[in-house]
This record gives sequence, structure tokens and C-alpha cells, in this order.
Amino acid sequence: MEKVYVIGHKSPDLDSIAAAISYANLKNVLEQTNKYIPARAGDLNKETKYLLEKLQLNNPELLSEAKGKNLILVDHNEFSQAVEGIEEAKIQEILDHHKVNFQYSEPIYFTIKPWGASCSIITQMYFDANIEINKSLASLMLGAILVDTVITKSPTCTDKDKEIIEQLAKLADIDDWKNYGLEIFKVRSSVSELSAAEIIKSDYKDFNFKAGKFGIGQVETVDLSEFDDRREEIIEELEKIRQEGGYHTVILFITDIIKEGSLFLVSTQDPEGIEKALNTKLDDNQTYLDGVISRKKQVAPKLTQFFDN
Ligand code: MG
Ligand code: MG
Ligand code: MG
Repeated sequence: MEKVYVIGHKSPDLDSIAAAISYANLKNVLEQTNKYIPARAGDLNKETKYLLEKLQLNNPELLSEAKGKNLILVDHNEFSQAVEGIEEAKIQEILDHHKVNFQYSEPIYFTIKPWGASCSIITQMYFDANIEINKSLASLMLGAILVDTVITKSPTCTDKDKEIIEQLAKLADIDDWKNYGLEIFKVRSSVSELSAAEIIKSDYKDFNFKAGKFGIGQVETVDLSEFDDRREEIIEELEKIRQEGGYHTVILFITDIIKEGSLFLVSTQDPEGIEKALNTKLDDNQTYLDGVISRKKQVAPKLTQFFDN
């Protein structure tokens, strides 16, 4: 029996890990010729750790060097994203849902579908082969599809993904898959262990306008109420950053990906200007803007128009 490692991309996300586990299992059930081993190319992220523990599933083996190993790549098909030593590994097969960027010197099995998650493709393979998906495996793959498709809100989510989500939810005995997705996203976007400064700076950009220097940070959440107790503390930190950094304005906007709107927390030397630029009223340095979710496409252009002219 040859060992074949089933492995996702570096900085593995839930889909990469769930795909490695579920596809290795499927191959082991279907074939008795090789031994398929689920593997990972890096540390688990928060929601993956949470779900594996909750479902009592084994953490895939860490493969830090793939030289000379037999591999099946899942959830990626680019060498730049693959495990170290990929150039000298023996790739047997690829299963993925990203654009094709792969060349190889030998013919291999290659499965690509333009679906929302690798786990959607794998679930369909279980169905086609009539192989049972147990409850924990169904929960794992369902979680991965819900994360990759942002609980079906992402433009990458297809009708096929939606159909598979319903089928997996039944097998997982999960009545409300939206709620299950929210549970996972809460773990993923949890800020409870971060300081106000870390929250602000986690995704932060400077803009130099004619009126002065602006700093704009953004965080995503599925539950704005998670920030209810943190708002004042964050605003105080914004004030501090503004004073110390010589800013005109410092903003953190917290985007609710479910409601598709953002809560703005603001420290500025020109509150009226900010109100005009964003077409809103500030209340205690705060305002909620429905439909505003993008710094690049929505927030920065509005501020540029008003403060850089
Ligand atoms: Mg991925
Ligand atoms: Mg994926
Ligand atoms: Mg992804």
C-alpha cells in the first residue's frame, strides 16, 4: 500500500481541512490499493479548530515538507499556494474550485467545478458513489461550504451549493443551517481576545487628503452586538491614534456581513464635514450606514470627494 497525502493550501481554511478529511475518507472507502492520509500545510485557523473539537474529529497530520511524497491537492491548484517541496512531490490528482493555474509533466486526475466550495464537489462525489456520509462528516463539510459561500451570500455561491447545503443539513441533523453558519462565523470573527488598538489596526489604511491625513480601519462581523461593550473603548483609542498620529480623522467601520451595512466609529476634527461626506448624522461619534460594506468602493471615494477637492 502506498501512502498518499490529501492536502489543501498553505494557511489552510476550513474548506481545505474539511476537503482533506472527507476526500481521504472517500478514497479509502472506494479503493483498497493505497492508504489516503488527510494532511495540512499549516496551522489550523480558529473556526477549524473549533469545529474539529466540537465534532470530535482528528486534526489532519501536518506535512511541512512534501518532497518525494504522493499527493492529492484539494482546494487549490497553484504551486505558489501549495505545501513546501511541491516541485519534487508526486501529484496524483487535483480537486478544486478555483481558476485553473496548473501545468504538469504527466497526465493526472483533475476535477475542477465552478462551485462555491471544494466540499460541495466532494459531497456530490459521495452521492454519486452512493457512499454514506456520517453526521460529523456532514457537519464538517456543511460548515466549510457555509464559510466559503459566506452562508450563501457570496456571489460565488451557486444553486448547486444551495442544494448540497440542504442535503448535508439533513444528514447532519441540523434544522437551521443559517444559524449553524452564524455560529461558525462568530468564532471566526471573534474579537473578544483583541485589544481596541488591535481591532482598529487589524485591517487599517492611511489616506492623505488635501484636508489632512485620514486613517480608516475595517472589521467584519456577523453580529454587531459583539461590539456593544467595546464601542466607547474603541472611540477612545481612535481619539488617541488621531492625536498621536496627527490625523484629521480616524475611522473604524464594523461591517455586518449578514445585514450588509456598517457601524462607523469616528474620531475627527470636523464632525460636520464627516456628516456631509457620508450623508449621515453622527450620534456620540457613531453612525450606522445601511448598504455600505466596502472601503475601496464606497467609503474612500465619498471621503475623497469631500476632503480631497
Ligand atoms: Mg480555501
Ligand atoms: Mg475553498
Ligand atoms: Mg476560501
